[in-house]
Amino acid sequence: MNLDPCPLCGAAAAVEVQAQQLKLAGLGTADLGFGYCASCGHIYQVRRASDDLLAAHYASFSNYTCFDPEAARKAAAGNLTKRLLTLAEARAPKGIAYEVGCATGYHLRHFREAGWEVGGCDPSPKAVAQAKEIFGIAIDCGMDRETLPGHDDLALVLFSHVLEHMVDPLAALKLAHGALRDDGVVLLEVPCATAPHLVPPGWFAFEHLHYFTQASLTALLAAAGFAPIEFRISLKAELYPVIAAVAGKSAGPVVPKSDPLAVAQSKDFLERLLAHDDALWRRTAGRLDTIGGPVYVWGAGVHTAQLFDRTPLYSRVKGIIDRDAQKRGIRMGDHTVIGPEDFFGRREDIPVVISSFAAEAQIAQSLAAAGIAERNIVRLYA
Ligand SMILES: [Zn+2]
Repeated sequence: MNLDPCPLCGAAAAVEVQAQQLKLAGLGTADLGFGYCASCGHIYQVRRASDDLLAAHYASFSNYTCFDPEAARKAAAGNLTKRLLTLAEARAPKGIAYEVGCATGYHLRHFREAGWEVGGCDPSPKAVAQAKEIFGIAIDCGMDRETLPGHDDLALVLFSHVLEHMVDPLAALKLAHGALRDDGVVLLEVPCATAPHLVPPGWFAFEHLHYFTQASLTALLAAAGFAPIEFRISLKAELYPVIAAVAGKSAGPVVPKSDPLAVAQSKDFLERLLAHDDALWRRTAGRLDTIGGPVYVWGAGVHTAQLFDRTPLYSRVKGIIDRDAQKRGIRMGDHTVIGPEDFFGRREDIPVVISSFAAEAQIAQSLAAAGIAERNIVRLYA
């Protein structure tokens, strides 16, 4: 099987440790492999979805736009914004803060309040319009390649949970380097490959092409001409551990080297991660065994694709329900996704499996409120 070369060091030394075949709603089946580089230790998707599939996913199903402008305008800074802002206040000069992939600008408006001039870019025209309308922030439509070359005096370039989605994060950081003034810094946060016992099931996700450690981030930043100033790892701040980094310009780019210690650490991490992940899915499969018979599945997202891949549930599925109107009527495997009204209207006495790790309790509540009998509400994680 052909595995992609390492996006960090370029070595053709990929080792695959987990394969996933995901029936993605509206996008067909993605055949993916996750693993690491046996030369530098970087953890990444060694077989990823095609550029077309990823582009279709982001264009159709990403919900990075805002559904409640009034609430957004009044919202206090969330935990992620606070982490980024405190690191910026400690380490970044004031001037222009520019966020790549800024969505509606909900971080930037707080940076503006803290004294930065702000700008940013996002590929979604809807997000660009909302940034203007909700926060009065003019952002560029596009991504790093289209927008960063037009700048050379930025004080801060921010990548908040963006680099892990990029096919070539090194190229993005090099562009950021060119857009920064001499004392400018890059600030980023990404998923951290640490503490495998803390990650939720299905941590290897098809949109996340990279999983970073302090070692791999150091190498990545160095390759783009940056020297790290500070790292901060948060183990429990999000659904999984994250690492933030702030880095300034160095004397010049450093070509990534082979790193046996980093390779050993990645191998050890992945071994423990896979054991943990397998145990989680076995427990979920066991839970599904106890109910038996046909079921509905609530949620047509990536968690459901993983549930079908990692447990025998798919053959028992009677229907798939999703609240997101964008998913209504599209295909997921052999099923057509239906809306909640359709499902509730059927009044069938069949269990509904809640397919979400993050929103399980909230969905269970709404099902109960809609009159679904408690015995038919299947929680996988509670
Ligand atoms: Zn490598």
